[in-house]
Formats: sequence, C-alpha cells, structure tokens
Amino acid sequence: MRNNKPIIAAERSHMSRKEIDKPISSYFGENTFNARLMEANLPKDVYKRLLEIIDKNKMLDIDTANTIAHAMKEWAMENGATHFAHWFQPMTGVTAEKHDAFIEPSGNGEVIERFSGKQLVQGEPDASSFPSGGVRATFEARGYTAWDMSSPAFLRKNGSGATLCIPTAFISYTGEALDKKTPLLRSINAVNKSALRILRLLGNKKSKKVISNLGPEQEYFLIDKDYFYKRQDLVLTGRTLIGAPPAKGQELEDQYFGSIKERIQIFMHDVERELYKLGIPAKTRHNEVAPSQFEIAPIFEEANIAVDHNQLVMDILHRVAKHHNLACLLHEKPFARINGSGKHLNWSLSDTDGNNMFEPGRTPQDNMQFLVFLVAAIKAVYEYADILRASVASSSNDHRLGANEAPPAIISVFLGDQLTKILDDIEKGNVSKVSNDAIIDLGLSSLPLVSKDTTDRNRTSPFAFTGNKFEFRAVGSSQSISFPATVLNTIAAAALDDLADKLESKKDTDIKQAVFDVIREELKKIKIVLFMGDNYSEEWHKEAEKRGLPNLKTTPEALMALNKEKAYTIFNKFGVLSNVELKSRYHIRLEKYAKDIDIEAKALFDMVTTQVIPSGMKYQKELAESIAGASNALGSGVDLSVQKDFLMNITMLISSIKSELIKLKVSCEKGGSIKGEQAKSDYYCKEVKTKMDAIREDVDKLETLVDDDLWPIPKFWEMLFIS
Ligand code: ADP
Ligand code: MG
Repeated sequence: MRNNKPIIAAERSHMSRKEIDKPISSYFGENTFNARLMEANLPKDVYKRLLEIIDKNKMLDIDTANTIAHAMKEWAMENGATHFAHWFQPMTGVTAEKHDAFIEPSGNGEVIERFSGKQLVQGEPDASSFPSGGVRATFEARGYTAWDMSSPAFLRKNGSGATLCIPTAFISYTGEALDKKTPLLRSINAVNKSALRILRLLGNKKSKKVISNLGPEQEYFLIDKDYFYKRQDLVLTGRTLIGAPPAKGQELEDQYFGSIKERIQIFMHDVERELYKLGIPAKTRHNEVAPSQFEIAPIFEEANIAVDHNQLVMDILHRVAKHHNLACLLHEKPFARINGSGKHLNWSLSDTDGNNMFEPGRTPQDNMQFLVFLVAAIKAVYEYADILRASVASSSNDHRLGANEAPPAIISVFLGDQLTKILDDIEKGNVSKVSNDAIIDLGLSSLPLVSKDTTDRNRTSPFAFTGNKFEFRAVGSSQSISFPATVLNTIAAAALDDLADKLESKKDTDIKQAVFDVIREELKKIKIVLFMGDNYSEEWHKEAEKRGLPNLKTTPEALMALNKEKAYTIFNKFGVLSNVELKSRYHIRLEKYAKDIDIEAKALFDMVTTQVIPSGMKYQKELAESIAGASNALGSGVDLSVQKDFLMNITMLISSIKSELIKLKVSCEKGGSIKGEQAKSDYYCKEVKTKMDAIREDVDKLETLVDDDLWPIPKFWEMLFIS
C-alpha cells in the first residue's frame, strides 16, 4: 500500500514540561479521593466510622454518606469536576458510566452544585440495555449501582473538563449481581473465611483477615493510527482477519527486552504519568516477543483494587495512544502467525500484615502453613480445572491458548523441582513421623530454598508457582481479570475448607501429624495435575489425556463447565454466585462468542467483497490487457505462457474467494437462525470459523501476488515495523 504511509506523529509528550519534570511521589494518586485525602477532609469521627464500616462490612448510614459526599464534591470541584458518574463493570467486559452534573436548580433560573450521600451511595441507571442473561426481564429494567467503599473514587480528566468517577457494584432490583465486581467481592470474603478457618486450626491466632492479591502483567500492541483506521477488521473486531505474514516476523528475537523506540517510550511515559495520578503503581515496562508488542505491569494490589486498576490501565492505554497518533490493540491475537497477547495474572493470599500464605517461612510452624496453602492451591486446580479454563474462555483467547506461545488449554500446575521433590517425599511416606527435625529434613526450614530462580524457568505452564505466588498465564490480554480472580478465590476457598474439614476430623492427632497425613492423602489423588515439562509438546497432550485432565480447546466446549452441577454447587456454597447468576453468565458468554464470530464473519465478507476482490480484479484486468498488448505487439509466435499462468492463478483465486464468500454468507444466515446459545456457538465454532479460514488462506495468497499500489489494505510489515 505504497501511497498510504502514515504521518509519524511528532515525538513528544502531550504533557507540559513542568508536569513531566515532577517526581512521581509528588503527584501519585492526586486524582483519587484516597485514604489520605479522606482523613484530611473528613471530620475525625466520620473518617473513623468509615474505616470501621469498610473493615467490618457494615452498612453505611446516611449521615456518614452525606458528609463524605460533601467532602468528595468539594475536592472534585476544586479539581475542575462538573459531573459525577457511577463507574461499574457490567457483563459486557468493558466498564460503563453514566454522568450527572452536580447542578440543581436553586430558583430564579440559577443553579447550585450539590452531591448528596444518596447520590454517592446509590445510582439507578436504566439497566435494560446491559446483558443480564435472563436475570431480569427487560420490562423490569431497574438496576442499581452501589458504591464500593473499598475502591477509591477518582477523577477522569481531559483537556476540557473532569468527572468524578465512583467505583460501584451493579445489581438488579431483586439483588442479583449484574456485574463482575459483586461476585469478586463475595469471593474475596469467601476465601478470607476459609483461610482464617484453616489458620486457626493450625494455631495461627495473629492473622486477622486474609486477602487475595493480584498483579496483572498487561501485554499490548501499538500500531500507527492511520493504519488502524484503514482496516475495517481492526476497527470493528480488534484483530486482522486477513493479512499475509511479513518477510520478517519475530524469528530474529531482536524485539524481546530490546531497547524501546523513542516514540513508544514517550507514549509509555505519558501512560505511566496518567496511571500514577490515579494511584496505579505501574512498575515495569518492556518490549515483548512480537514486533510492536509491549508489556506493562503494576505492583500487585488487593484483588478488588487491582481489577479496577487493570480496567483503568486498559482504558488509559487506548486514550493515550490516540494522543500519539497510535492505536493500542488489546486483542489476544491481532496478527495471525505472530505471537499473541496475554495477561499473566499473579495471585497470592496474604494477611493484612503482609504475611504471604504462599511464602515458605523461617519456622517449622510457618512452613506447615505454607504447605497447607500450597496443597490447597494444587487441589483447587485439580478439582476445578475446567471452571478455571472456562473463566478465560473467549473467541479471542481461543486464538492464543495452545498456539505454542501461550499455555495449552490443559490446566496443569508447575512447582519447580525442589517443591516437587518435597511433595513427592511426603506422598511416598519418606517422612512418616513428623517432628521439627523432619520438616527441616524436607528442606522446608528456610525461605531461600524456594527462590524465584528455581521455580520460574518454565514459561509454558498455565499455572506456575513462582516463589511466593501463582501465575495464571491463560488469561487473555483484553479480558477483565475479575472473573478469573473470582474463580481462583472461590476454588481456593473450597479446597481450604475441605482440608479444614479433614483436619478437624483428626482432632485427636497432633496437628503437625494430622497435616502431614491429610496432605499425603490429598497428594495421592491430586498429583496428576502437576507437570514440570514442556506444556507445548505433543507428548504432554497425550500424557494429559491418559491422566484424564480436561483439554477444552474451544470456548463453546470450555463454557459448558459453568453449566454443570459441580459449578452450581461450589459458587452457591461459597455465596459467590447464585444459580440464576451463574446461569446468566454462562448464557451471556456463549452469546458473546457467537456474536463475536458473526461480526468477524460480516466484517471479513465486507472487506473481501469491497476491497480485496476489486483490487484483485483491477490487477487481473491490467494483466489481461498487458498480455493482449504484448501479444499484439510481438505477434503470436512469442511465448506468453508464464504471464498467462500468472493471470490464470489470479483469476482462479478470485473465483475461489467469490464462491467461499457465498458459503460464508449462507452459514452465517443459518447460524443466526439457530435457537439455543450452546448450539448456536457450537455452530459458529465449527462451521463459520472454518469458512472464514478458507477465505483467509486464498486472500493471503492473493495479497502476495497483486500489485502493491493496488492493494488497499495496510500490510503486516507496514503495521508491525513502521512506527
Ligand atoms: P515476571 O515477568 O518475571 O513474571 P513481572 O515483574 O513482570 O515478573 O510481574 C510480576 C507481577 O507479579 C507484578 O505485577 C508483581 O507485582 C506481581 N507480584 C509479585 N508478588 C506478588 C504476590 N505476592 N501476589 C500477587 N502478585 C505478586
Ligand atoms: Mg510473569
């Protein structure tokens, strides 16, 4: 596409020099109404009450709410805010907000700014246009947003104004969760309860609350915005539906951790400054494996905050990219045959004093605790691998899982040699009597033994222990981390609870011995989920099948796990999702899957019909004319068979594409008429996708033959290497 080179944006920040030069600490969190501001701006007793309400999950009374709302409004207005918005996370996967001005009429045609406690605490957006998966009928469209006091309100500013955003949960009139935050908050409570139960059994009296922590490593692509807008597929579906591979891909391995290009670095600085203002602790940045692919990771935070923050990170990546004439692609597979993007989700449990449950301790007592939590995590994955797999299932993530760049769809656990050996010894009964000495024998006496280096080498595992946390690597780059985290917390709660039951049934045995006995029994069963080898290898796939581990390759297959008795039972038991709530999630996600593919198919149909075929035919005409001209000029004795073959080749490709387009259209029409979400998404997976693949194959061949001047769509090499 020669005539369409992008205009590279000026390499400078959209921020002023004065802003750029400030140290991070001087403005970190300045756009949030954080604990420090609350303490400074609220009367002492109100602040104390608020802390207590948050800590003990109490009801917020209206007087306290009014006082907080007033302080919040004053602060927001000082910072230029005119509006407030309840910010929530419906089941669409993106965030939603409805803005209201602070103004109220005060008579005589004038207004005053007001923000009441009620407005802070509760909103009532019309919920009828959000997916509910049958939770509530449209005629009963009321939904409520409720302030999540544990996540700070923040200001969203742009060049011309500011809005006070209040993180909220979104629930139906009858109290069902219509969002991703509510179940997450419930799962945080559930794992706290189960973890405390086991800690007490182990004799730990000091931990008051156990929280789950998340550190999401966000991968993304950046391409020039001009190219982005020239591709209907990118604009409408987030990925390229056609495109021949570039001559250079990632084979030189010169991109990973390479020096970051100037333009990109300036973009990253701007992103980070925006994040710091929102109190988001962005920590690492680097080039990723594929050309034009990058990663940003924050310091881990409490799960609820980390989820909100990751949503904001994705939002800010998009917004800031625009200032730099770039487009940020968060899709899991924007470019076929080039590495896709994931979001490694680091997860751990700690108490509020910062003691990490997955950190081997310095004393035998701490190590016993570590062992129990470690085994609980393995047990959770063993028992609920299918639900964990379902938590990351989406049409976009299907392109990535199992593509030898991301873990396979088989969920196994990696521990590293040292821990494997220790668990092996326990399971085999190499230590049968337990004393402090025995624990030391097991190599569990001191922390440095399980160093990150010995555990972090296997990058192919979907669920890897990395020193003091687990890294769930199957999460997709565009996904909210909320549901995967909800599942992790819930299955951990279930496993911990089960271990607690078993320990309690051995009340007469010394606790250390009881722990070893219970763990040994568990390991016999759950060890089949452990795998230290290469998860990409063919042998593993065979071995996993032999072990009976699920390998759910596509979203429609994977989502079925959410519609099984086992899922209803666990989500119900731990109060995370009721049957109706779970069923609605299952439906919504299936529906989304079919819709995603339908949109892709239609975008592909349109691009190929209106761009690819016309340019192919123009070239066909040019070739035909040139051959006729040559034959005329040179006489029939000249051999033009090579040119004719070439023309024939192009002609046949065009015909083939044309007939495949018709097949695609027919199968989309059929797919659209299928009743029942499971059947429909199965059909899209099996029928529509294969037709799209067939078209792509031919189109990509055509791309490499047609005159570049006639090809109207930006090519991979242009998008990936020009910036
Ligand atoms: P790597 O690429 O080696 O996995 P990164 O530094 O890119 O490491 O990302 C690791 C992520 O894990 C960061 O977000 C980090 O804050 C987070 N993390 C570290 N310790 C914990 C923990 N105990 N619980 C949850 N997340 C953690
Ligand atoms: Mg990592």
